[in-house]
Amino acid sequence: MSNNLGRVAVVTGASSGIGAATARALAADGYRIALLARRAERISVLADDLDNGSIAITADVTDRDSLLAAAKRVQDELGGTDVLVNNAGVMLLGPFTSDQRDDHRHMIEVNLLGAITATEVFLDQLNTDAAERGGDIINISSVAGRTARAGNGVYAATKWGLNGWSEALRQELLPNVRVTLIEPGVVATELPNHITHSETRQGVQKLYSQAEVTAEDVAEIIAFTLSRPRRLAINEILLRPAGQA
Ligand code: NDP
Repeated sequence: MSNNLGRVAVVTGASSGIGAATARALAADGYRIALLARRAERISVLADDLDNGSIAITADVTDRDSLLAAAKRVQDELGGTDVLVNNAGVMLLGPFTSDQRDDHRHMIEVNLLGAITATEVFLDQLNTDAAERGGDIINISSVAGRTARAGNGVYAATKWGLNGWSEALRQELLPNVRVTLIEPGVVATELPNHITHSETRQGVQKLYSQAEVTAEDVAEIIAFTLSRPRRLAINEILLRPAGQA
């Protein structure tokens, strides 16, 4: 923990699920956290709870101006960024029909363009701090970034896209900034509750109601990855519930 004192992690989508759990795990490891999400109340309660100088910043990853404002606050109030966790995401599954076209666009804007834009906006801070003590980018992809199936086409496309971009970024930023891709299978979070196609939502919620892997399990893996010595970069972690086919 003492190695991380003074280090700052920016977590997008920190208001619930994997993002909130990651904020808690990294705070326990000594990081101050910039909690980014749209639901201001939730991140503000979490920042108070962490009680370590972490700050809540209302930001929408589809709105570059709100990310620019967030980056300014992180610089001014926390002194810069050591770690960026690109976690914000939506999984609006459903059949590929015109009715779902708004969902398609929204998933691409949040999951893929949101991560790309947040990285572009925070990169100067990551590079500045990396020159001294090393930076990290964690991109939260999915098993759906490796396997596609009927009903998850555009969600899978966003995660496959994230995987390709992430690997190119890794090569561009080494050795000072490490880039790690995390690809979870089913994790018990509220992710399926936002699905707009009702039949699909019910089916996926049923599956998620039996989920055994927790957001805390994933957060622990992220904290472990970040805690490796700077000479070692964990490039990619694919994890599934032991029973997931
Ligand atoms: P949650 O729904 O709990 O978390 C999603 C987070 O993303 C929320 O904090 C939400 O905050 C944030 N978010 C959504 N849209 C935006 C936006 N436009 N701007 C900023 N933040 C946004 O689900 P998970 O924790 O499960 O999901 C986190 C990540 O993990 C996602 O990228 C997801 O694809 C990935 N993942 C999840 C798996 C699972 O089974 N749960 C499996 C594999 C990957 P708010 O609404 O307050 O803005």
